[in-house]
Amino acid sequence: MKPWTDADLERLLTNPEHQDNPLLPALEWLQQREQAQRKQLEKLLRIADCSDGIARSQTHELLEQYDKQLRRLEKITRISDRYQHSLMELNEQLKQAAQQDPLTKLANRRLLMARLGEEVERCRRGASPFTLVMLDADHFKRINDDFGHEMGDRALCMMAETIVQQLRGYDLCARWGGEEFLLLLPQTELEQACHIVERVMAAVRGVRLEKEEQLRLSISAGLAMYQPDENVDLTINRADAALIQAKKNGRDQLQIART
Ligand code: GH3
Ligand code: MG
Ligand code: MG
Repeated sequence: MKPWTDADLERLLTNPEHQDNPLLPALEWLQQREQAQRKQLEKLLRIADCSDGIARSQTHELLEQYDKQLRRLEKITRISDRYQHSLMELNEQLKQAAQQDPLTKLANRRLLMARLGEEVERCRRGASPFTLVMLDADHFKRINDDFGHEMGDRALCMMAETIVQQLRGYDLCARWGGEEFLLLLPQTELEQACHIVERVMAAVRGVRLEKEEQLRLSISAGLAMYQPDENVDLTINRADAALIQAKKNGRDQLQIART
């Protein structure tokens, strides 16, 4: 059967043939009620459409805010990464500065004492003993007096560089004091240490500073080999005593410490 349309219904209701039909008022009432319900439905649909639009625009706004926050967060993360990186660099520089002599860039006393502690431990575990060498620039006061303090500084730096060049990778040269250096020669007995120190002294003798042809450097040395179970301060004192003896003997030479 063909579905009824509004026009079919209208025709039926207005047809004079059916004017006396008792169902006519009921049909008219049903038609009015159906039209009222349809209007209400259309209204509801319009409201739904409208709120859907609002919801969509609100969602869009929220997404934009979310993106903005995300970008802000990324920026903060980048800044914090950079900050952390520079903090780490600063930390590393501070650590280095705490272990380094600012003039010569050699290890300072603190680093040398730490390395000495490790070396003593190694000896206790059975490694062969190490040798300490106390070095002192000869007549350095004269260098300052004759060429000026600034040239004295440059001479000290050159001396430090020259000493290090003669050492092996695992040796350590520290600036002990003004014009004094202390060498730590791990797993090195006296005979081998003497060869190394002679090489160092020869190299220092050969140092020439530009524009100061007259400037000559030399260095005296005191050697002491660590004795098992000896307090390492005593080894240092023995090296120092040997150095004093080398100075007494005329400088630019080495002296071996007594045990
Ligand atoms: P010796 O052979 O007996 O060691 O004689 P010396 O002149 O080297 O020894 P002395 O202890 O009389 O003098 C050390 C000199 O080293 C004096 C001091 O000014 C100088 N000196 C120490 N540290 C520095 C420094 O950092 N820079 C400069 N330019 N001179 C320094
Ligand atoms: Mg001195
Ligand atoms: Mg000196």
